[in-house]
Amino acid sequence: MAVERTLSIIKPDATKRNLTGKINAKFEDAGLRIVAQKRIQLTPAQAGVFYEVHKERPFYGELCDFMASGPVVVQVLEGEGAIAKNREVMGATNPADAAPGTVRADFAESVGENSVHGSDAADTAAQEIAYFFSGLELVG
Ligand code: ADP
Repeated sequence: MAVERTLSIIKPDATKRNLTGKINAKFEDAGLRIVAQKRIQLTPAQAGVFYEVHKERPFYGELCDFMASGPVVVQVLEGEGAIAKNREVMGATNPADAAPGTVRADFAESVGENSVHGSDAADTAAQEIAYFFSGLELVG
């Protein structure tokens, strides 16, 4: 399987509860390497650009406000099949449906405040990584 990179975000519900280290341990235990990472504060407009694909969904405004409600940790994870592997480690969008031991089963508070984001395909991963990081910030 090919080595891939994927964009991960530890969302404000998780940074507020000091869960960055516990979530990173799950990524690293699964064989994902954190090759870039920074803690930033988004504005609702910046979150809106990131989540533009959802702009027609009823929860879009709520999602943008939530993503700007506190710091996020944006990171690039690298590994074999990293995009799918990260989605596995994250668990289902709704924590009620997430498999035991996944980030969302263990930490998410609701379907909206669900602790992590992860890219869902190679093209979106490339686009999302470029939104937050320059090439010089990626240290494999
Ligand atoms: P995922 O993050 O698992 O890829 P989606 O792309 O479907 O899920 O949704 C993006 C984000 O929008 C979710 O992670 C969650 O924060 C939020 N979201 C999704 N569905 C809902 C909903 N029904 N109500 C509120 N927020 C939602």
